[in-house]
Amino acid sequence: MTTSPTTTIGFIGLGIMGGPMASNLLRAGFDVIGYDVRPASVERLVAEGGKAAESVEHATAAADVVITMLPNFPQVEAVAFGASGVLESARAGTLYVDMSTIRPQTSRRLAAEGAQKGLRVLDAPVSGGERGAIDGVLSIMVGGGSADFATAEPVLEPLGATIVHVGPAGAGQTVKAANQLVVGGTYALVAEAIVLLEASGVDAGLGLDVLAGGLAGSRILELRRRSMVAREFAPGFRIDLHHKDMGIVLDAAREADVALPVGGLVAQLVAAARAQGYGSLDHSALLKVAEATAGQGGVTA
Ligand code: NAD
Repeated sequence: MTTSPTTTIGFIGLGIMGGPMASNLLRAGFDVIGYDVRPASVERLVAEGGKAAESVEHATAAADVVITMLPNFPQVEAVAFGASGVLESARAGTLYVDMSTIRPQTSRRLAAEGAQKGLRVLDAPVSGGERGAIDGVLSIMVGGGSADFATAEPVLEPLGATIVHVGPAGAGQTVKAANQLVVGGTYALVAEAIVLLEASGVDAGLGLDVLAGGLAGSRILELRRRSMVAREFAPGFRIDLHHKDMGIVLDAAREADVALPVGGLVAQLVAAARAQGYGSLDHSALLKVAEATAGQGGVTA
């Protein structure tokens, strides 16, 4: 199979990320048939020219390419392996691209069991957040076979600015885990920098402006330093999802037989943010944990 604008894409999971991704595929000229357990999300896709599916089976049976963008592995396993799920309903030769962030074991199982059914399976998690999804500029890390990646490229192009085949099945998820490790750790350290600057009577905004231009500079400092100093924590990317992702990081480390001591600490800081009731805030709310740990009440803007 080759992909072209006449390709029909079954898109399952039309949430914060999946909704705008499906819209971008429609705009690129693909035929998109969408399914979500929340009917309002499907209705939004239909208003933009997509088709509504009433079930996973309906979205899959009609499709040349199936994409899932679901919260976590239990949802992906239910949709893929369940009765009338993707594996049962897809035609042989269908390309199945799971773009959810999930544990690599599930991605490898999808690839192995999918292959037995004649499906071509890729794991293709993303980075770049809701803004990146809306603008079609996500970073997409793809695990799976080279020929399948080549087939998928025209479908991924309207979604991403950086699309890299990083290795065999599960490798995309491992790269995403590494991404979440670095992002979580960076937020934790920026939070501590703010605590130090403010507790020392130095203007944190000015301090971070300097850091952003030097070796400590990062995309996080570039995009989030002002909102952090102002204590604006509307998501963005929720602490709850980052907590899930740190679980994936630690599972992957255990499976690879390596210790990630800083990663373990970052996972506990994210868990603390959740335990303190900040699960629905942006992950930059790690600043609240840093403040509480340091015995600081925070300086409101
Ligand atoms: P979301 O909760 O907004 O969307 C998930 C969608 O899946 C929801 O609309 C939900 O109704 C639907 N769904 C759940 N179970 C279903 C089922 N059985 N059948 C059909 N639909 C079902 O989450 P999101 O923010 O879009 O994230 C999706 C994935 O992308 C997650 O794995 C997340 O970690 C990852 N991700 C999110 C971001 C972000 O900034 N939000 C960034 C990068 C990666």
